[in-house]
Amino acid sequence: MKAIALISGGLDSILAARIIKEQGIGVLPLNFKIPFCQRKKQASQDNDINSLVKRSLGQELKVVDISSEFLELVLKPRHGFGSNMNPCIDCKIFMLKKAKELLRFFDAQFVVTGEVLGQRPMSQHRRALDTIEKESGLDGLLLRPLCAGVLAETRPEKEGWVKRDRLFKFSGRSRRPQMDLAREFSIDNYPNASGGCLLTDPRFSNKLRDLISHQALNLEDVGLLKIGRHFRLSEKAKLIVGRNEEEDRELELSARGNDYIFMPNPELAGPTCLGRGEFDNDLIQLSLQITCHYCDLNTTKSARLIYYRAGISPREESSWEVSPLPEDKLKLFRL
Ligand code: SF4
Repeated sequence: MKAIALISGGLDSILAARIIKEQGIGVLPLNFKIPFCQRKKQASQDNDINSLVKRSLGQELKVVDISSEFLELVLKPRHGFGSNMNPCIDCKIFMLKKAKELLRFFDAQFVVTGEVLGQRPMSQHRRALDTIEKESGLDGLLLRPLCAGVLAETRPEKEGWVKRDRLFKFSGRSRRPQMDLAREFSIDNYPNASGGCLLTDPRFSNKLRDLISHQALNLEDVGLLKIGRHFRLSEKAKLIVGRNEEEDRELELSARGNDYIFMPNPELAGPTCLGRGEFDNDLIQLSLQITCHYCDLNTTKSARLIYYRAGISPREESSWEVSPLPEDKLKLFRL
């Protein structure tokens, strides 16, 4: 007997997997990688999840990348969005459908998740849990060990694969029962419950809405939403301003085809900016003024900045003397 345990990176999914493992059932810890994880933390987060899984379950985490297919979900989720661009119900249904497809591949019989009745307002109330199970097609093969005691019996319980009296009855917003159980299992150093999904972040959601309303959604542009300051210049042009050397480098490397790069001259400290879309002379000047706003001008009132088109080789640089765009005008363009 084996279960696929969906691991989100938070404590609850780890506990759910451990409860099943404690009953002597094989558990395959599985994490679905989506394109909306916080970028800066991604590497360390991956390590954290890996090490948490290893410490808590004594196993390696299996990661399955579902990024491309996941993008579709934020366009028009059937069950709508949470308070930001998070389509949590559709997201869970999608992941469970994927898990169901993998049952046979991993020679597993059911799926385990760390959901707790009433813990989250959008996706963990009773009707949402029922909808998620029904639409996932798992048909009795979805077990939620943390709150199974307050839900209808599932097939693993009815068939005697797992003992219902060794499952839990957690419900409500309190995290105390999970923290107590973690202590019982000697699980420590777990991340807080907020998770790392950028779709719940209002500022990221705003940038994503802008992207969706102006162009086709793709993984590369979603990746760029995670870095820099974003400005919508026109229906067909946007500018991304690097916030540090690492982002500057990344923006320069991401530039392609018709993209523009705007930057200070070598004597001036300031950001590298990526312009994507259609630029005429007015938009080039506006982009240089925004770039200039973030340059270190000291006492001078203007500076000569450089720009070039990424797709032209060898590089043809031009320059323009501009003054910085004042803050009140800048905020009209900022996303
Ligand atoms: S917070 Fe993000 S990853 Fe979690 S269920 Fe909602 S959309 Fe999915």
